[in-house]
Amino acid sequence: MRTIHNPRELQEFAFSVRRSGTTIGLVPTMGALHEGHLSLIRRARQSDEVVIVSIFVNPTQFGPNEDLDRYPRMLERDLDACRECGVDVVFVPSAGDLYPEGFQTYVEVGPLASRLCGASRPGHFRGVATICLKLFNLCQPTRAYFGLKDYQQYRVVERMARDFDLPLEIVPMPIVREPDGLAMSSRNSYLSPEERTAATVLFRSLEDAAKACEAGERDPQTLAARVRRGIEAEPLARVDYVEAVDPLTLEPAGSLPALIAVAVFIGNTRLIDNRLLEAPDSSK
Ligand code: AMP
Repeated sequence: MRTIHNPRELQEFAFSVRRSGTTIGLVPTMGALHEGHLSLIRRARQSDEVVIVSIFVNPTQFGPNEDLDRYPRMLERDLDACRECGVDVVFVPSAGDLYPEGFQTYVEVGPLASRLCGASRPGHFRGVATICLKLFNLCQPTRAYFGLKDYQQYRVVERMARDFDLPLEIVPMPIVREPDGLAMSSRNSYLSPEERTAATVLFRSLEDAAKACEAGERDPQTLAARVRRGIEAEPLARVDYVEAVDPLTLEPAGSLPALIAVAVFIGNTRLIDNRLLEAPDSSK
């Protein structure tokens, strides 16, 4: 396994791989790797001949009062995990290399990026789209893998790939959860033991809505209200948003299928989760 810090060196490597007709799978991450990340890496390992994992805590997607400085960084452990998964190249650029003095060009994201996390975190998806475009240009992937835990991110990046005619496939991957249902996240490490227990309320409330849906409740807004009530019943939780949206446009959903997306502060830690609700197939 190679570790490459220099963007030009990485790009030269990627060009030479692609020139030889070999496919590249890219898994962009901010490090502090967990099973969620590793599921993307393993999938890339199955589908692509060369697997690149990028580890970069991207400053342009963090707001001024967010956790950029204290975001968990554990490079040696991450490199071991990548080695065990058979990764070919880990790309670990510095902020100064990716955003040198004079940098001033950003991707202008559209309405998909303005709701949900885009409303709570102004500028977040502009930063996400910009770093993804840079990583795509540097790594020349045939496929790039994104987790559906960050559903809106997946949709924004996929839209950008289509709008900019990027020659790659964006592959969505299912949410990986802890045994008690909490979606895996590098930010879970911020939680105290009490908060960790309380954090299961996101999953439990989404599950409850899925059950209500199965039992016949078909109105997405009623289902979202149910999720909100469930989360508000947890004293350590503070709702940022709970919304039922159209899975494609992310506009408020009037009918199923709907994505119930939640962002919740557990103490000071902001967690997100989501669940797609579909009308049960009546032909079965
Ligand atoms: P991050 O390091 O948080 O930026 O995440 C890097 C990639 O891993 C993104 O595509 C995330 O959606 C994905 N990811 C993070 N957590 C999970 C999870 N629990 N299940 C599946 N994918 C995940």
